[in-house]
Amino acid sequence: MTLPVVDPIACSGISRRNFFRFAAGASALASMPILTEAHLALAQRPHFADPNKGIHIDANENPLGPCPAARQAMIDIVPRGGRYLMEMEDEVTSLFASQEGLDPQSVMAFAGSSEPLHYTVLTFTDKSKPLVVADPGYEAPMWAAKVAGAEVLKVPLADPKGAASHDIKAMLAASSTPGVIYICNPNNPTGTCTPRSDIEYAVANAPKDTTVLIDEAYIHLCEQPRSLDFVKEGKNVIVLRTFSKLYGMAGIRMGFAVGRPDLLKQISVHGGFNSLPITALAAAKTSLSESTLVAERKKIIGGVRTETLAWLKSEGHATTPSESNCFMLETGRPGKEVLAAMAAKEIYIGRIWPAWPTQVRITVGTQDEMLAFRKAFKEVMATNTAGLVAPPLPGRLAEFPFTHKS
Ligand code: PLP
Repeated sequence: MTLPVVDPIACSGISRRNFFRFAAGASALASMPILTEAHLALAQRPHFADPNKGIHIDANENPLGPCPAARQAMIDIVPRGGRYLMEMEDEVTSLFASQEGLDPQSVMAFAGSSEPLHYTVLTFTDKSKPLVVADPGYEAPMWAAKVAGAEVLKVPLADPKGAASHDIKAMLAASSTPGVIYICNPNNPTGTCTPRSDIEYAVANAPKDTTVLIDEAYIHLCEQPRSLDFVKEGKNVIVLRTFSKLYGMAGIRMGFAVGRPDLLKQISVHGGFNSLPITALAAAKTSLSESTLVAERKKIIGGVRTETLAWLKSEGHATTPSESNCFMLETGRPGKEVLAAMAAKEIYIGRIWPAWPTQVRITVGTQDEMLAFRKAFKEVMATNTAGLVAPPLPGRLAEFPFTHKS
């Protein structure tokens, strides 16, 4: 199979001119722009979207926010905000390591998982060591590969109308010298999982100098086996975890890279030693200590997802079989028209991936939000949306490097 070499900028909906302006400035600082879900969602969000109004199910956020105990922990630590309290970072990583049976040296804390995701790709890919990803998949690693000067090889998901899992054999066949093979489990945007046996195959059969990057941003939401054992076995694997999804801390910022200490040392050349906000550390530690939190939230989000998927099916709409907080919805027309028509009703959905232009990603919100989504979606699908486009970002936001491309 010959795979296309992909330009992530062209497929991200982000203005090329503004990226290069920003990237040029960044390289002058020997740094790089980190692209996150927040930027990508903003890039496709209509300019009139008011973050305080309407229903926002376009950025895979968790509307539940931090759990009550984590909120209290943040309030309680605020008076100590004049201190760095760097020992708190060790407390959080040690707690996570002991809960997962890991060596604490294998766990490194970051302000979210976007940083270690970028640093891993920057470290292990280059001109002769491409990045291999699934398509449609999360674009952030592609962006980092672009900065590293590495090719991005996109491999279509296997069985796109069914399981939509990573096609691991095709991913391994894509390059004889991959720098990084990126496996997002569950996958963003489809919410679908890749079987454990396939992930084991990837780890066992990747070339010896290849790093397998397993992004478990959404892993708490599904029943699939976790991948931390590969790290315990000393494999060339880095696993990413974040508090942005199940724990509802996207705006608080906390995540982990889990890998062999020598791999973590290499990626941390790019960053990761700055002290973290003590509010984030307090909330993370408390969240990890809440023994029923993962199960409770998995049940809440899973319940709303199941109800929404069942309703969509009853209305004749196909979706990916998600086990996460997002899924792809087939609209049978250009997805961007549906996005624009829904936005006119203040229901913000998205994003859209070039590989599947008639599908739109939907984030699972609260039950009330999804009821409002259902009503609006039914109305939109009963109307002619031909030619509808959400207007681009004007004014101040147009200066932002990641602008909307209609
Ligand atoms: N990985 C995936 C697949 C994501 O979807 C996201 C955010 O949506 C991230 C990583 C990074 O999230 P954060 O930096 O908030 O931890």
